[in-house]
Amino acid sequence: MSVRTGAAGATPGRVALVGAGPGARGLMTARALELIAAADVIVHDRLLPDGALDEAREEAELIYAGKVGGGPSTPQGEILDVLIERARQGAMVVRLKGGDPFVFGRGGEEALALRAAGIDFEVVPGVTAGVAGPAYAGIPITHRGRASAVAFVTAHEDPDKPESSLDWSALAAFPGTLVLYMGTRRLEAIAERLLAAGRPGSEPAAVIERGSFPDQRVVYATLATASRRAVEADIGAPAITVVGPVASLGEELTWFAAGPLAGRTVAVTRVRAEASALARELQALGARVVQAPAIRVTPLAGPAPDLAAYDLVCLTSPNGVRYLWQRVRAAGGDARSFAGTTLAAIGAGTARALAEHGLEADVVPARSVAEGLVEALVDHPIRRALVARASEARDVLPDALRERGAEVEVVTLYETKAQALGPAELEAARTADYVTFTSSSTVRYLLEAAGETGFEPSPDARIVSIGPVTSETLRERGLVVHVEAERHDIKGLVAAIVGDAQGD
Ligand code: SAH
Repeated sequence: MSVRTGAAGATPGRVALVGAGPGARGLMTARALELIAAADVIVHDRLLPDGALDEAREEAELIYAGKVGGGPSTPQGEILDVLIERARQGAMVVRLKGGDPFVFGRGGEEALALRAAGIDFEVVPGVTAGVAGPAYAGIPITHRGRASAVAFVTAHEDPDKPESSLDWSALAAFPGTLVLYMGTRRLEAIAERLLAAGRPGSEPAAVIERGSFPDQRVVYATLATASRRAVEADIGAPAITVVGPVASLGEELTWFAAGPLAGRTVAVTRVRAEASALARELQALGARVVQAPAIRVTPLAGPAPDLAAYDLVCLTSPNGVRYLWQRVRAAGGDARSFAGTTLAAIGAGTARALAEHGLEADVVPARSVAEGLVEALVDHPIRRALVARASEARDVLPDALRERGAEVEVVTLYETKAQALGPAELEAARTADYVTFTSSSTVRYLLEAAGETGFEPSPDARIVSIGPVTSETLRERGLVVHVEAERHDIKGLVAAIVGDAQGD
């Protein structure tokens, strides 16, 4: 769906109030992902799962509405204005919030305003932090014999303020688990309130920082000691505190293990859709991934090549496969158009992209570089070859094939262009523990996207390259290569980072 602006009688859009879950991307609902992929406009908070917006359309307008650290948040009125205005222009708007939109997320206020403005909306519940955090800390918030009720409490307000709307004696007397949504700053004052009102100091309590994120941390304590223990462990935001007899079960049932990259931040500098495979692998190992999508891939218009005229077709990237397939399909062809020609893929990722269309690559070199492909083709007699690739690419492959007497044609299917990076993305990439480069163009483009300020990684950052060609480009640009993958593909890159993190 596209934004239909201005025109009188434009179809009214709609708004989805969507919960993104607590932090683990796998806890996002299928409906949330579906709506993100379809949205024209996404108005989002800061605290979202890594990669929550990966599937957003290239053209989608992403609007950040959360607050940064203790800084000012976008006034609620402005957020409402944007939701209403974009929906009135006909856009499909997703308002994406951490956890569940109706649990301390102001989703109710937004729904009321949308109703008042006569705008259609949908609510997509999410896994709320007060359920997910304890679960990831091994704490069942209800348990036979220990708790048959749960209270979700937002304790952001100052408990000493006379206008505090919380009835602390009622909460102290509550016969069940208390789940407190709040930062640790208020914990001491709140624990004192509960103790003063008669909740026993020996009652088990747990503080869960960044619940379900790969770098989650948990402190198991008692109501009397929780605040001190949280300070000692330097627990920061966001955190959930669980108070009640169930909290001690966490020590027995703890199950969530930190991966080998827990606590490390890795910057991924590929185009968004392409970066997701790499990001997903890194996240599965516990890394935090910051995306600095420095490249935008745009398909070029053109006719489908007559594949039957070639005895060799070389594909040098998954994008090449995607756009060649699109041209073949647009011309009314299908997998049969590839019959009778030898198909060479530069690496496993490209071969996989072919396999998605039922096409098995005949040649896949062990080394995923142009030279590797040339070597792998040594025993193949070639008369006419087609190299399908991006407009900017090295000429190693066509040159080498020509040298061997083949007639070579190059079809350029797409172009890659630098995408300007915002200051926040640039800073995130600069301060990451690892900055990854998966091709020479990612190097060129990140530097280009960094603009006049340039890209200067922090002194502790480790620069990771997928292979020798990319390393060469990095060095040419004055960057130090700390880690080079032995296998020149995504798996090899991830293995190299893990090896480095473990001090191999
Ligand atoms: N709508 C959200 C809550 C928003 S209020 C939900 O349903 O989860 C913000 C508070 O939620 C934070 O101050 C913190 O107390 C809690 N919180 C959110 N995500 C969290 C997480 N991953 N781990 C621990 N606490 C979290």
